[in-house]
Amino acid sequence: MLQISINGKLFEPYRIFCIGKNYDEHVKELGGKAPEEPVVFMKSVASIVAPGANLFVPQHGNLLHHEVEVVLLIGQEGRDILEADALSHIAGITLGLDLTLRDVQDRLKKSGLPWELSKSFDQSAPLGIFKAYDPDSIDLENLSFWCSVNGDLRQQGNTRNMIFPVKSLIYKLSRWWTLKPGDIIFTGTPAGVGLLKAGDQVDIESAETGKYSWDFSP
Ligand code: MG
Repeated sequence: MLQISINGKLFEPYRIFCIGKNYDEHVKELGGKAPEEPVVFMKSVASIVAPGANLFVPQHGNLLHHEVEVVLLIGQEGRDILEADALSHIAGITLGLDLTLRDVQDRLKKSGLPWELSKSFDQSAPLGIFKAYDPDSIDLENLSFWCSVNGDLRQQGNTRNMIFPVKSLIYKLSRWWTLKPGDIIFTGTPAGVGLLKAGDQVDIESAETGKYSWDFSP
């Protein structure tokens, strides 16, 4: 089982919560409207892929999209966590890719069906290495991050543009679930999502989390 080490403390991934539609410009590019409450779905922890691993394009869809996201690791259990206390529940941060089969997702949405086939397939959660989170040195409301494919910049985001900022996400998620150590939260993707294909190289990067890369097998 994958283990995450933060300042010598080990965490096992427990659940992966993903937030959809959390940046206005991304909501617009998908043709929807901004949600009144966070859109939440889950991926299996089995879909996590470490940096540098070879990825395979899934065969049950045609449009595989990259979605770069800031990803949080919960370090401390909590229910009904106040926004003022939210940051103290975060043990680590990194970047990840919420890989999405867009054509499959569109079809499932139209039919009112669950999203797992489009969001929680094998290798659908490439994840960087978690860095210890210190609220005094990292501003989660002003963190810039990028995604490039074959060296071309595709996505450029900043967490200040989140519809539901990190504190609000933790408050709201913890009203619906008791958050536990090892919980992982993908916080939503900015605009610029686009196609990935066999042979591509994806890089995701921020000053605060470092740079991580994956290659798709040709
Ligand atoms: Mg996403």
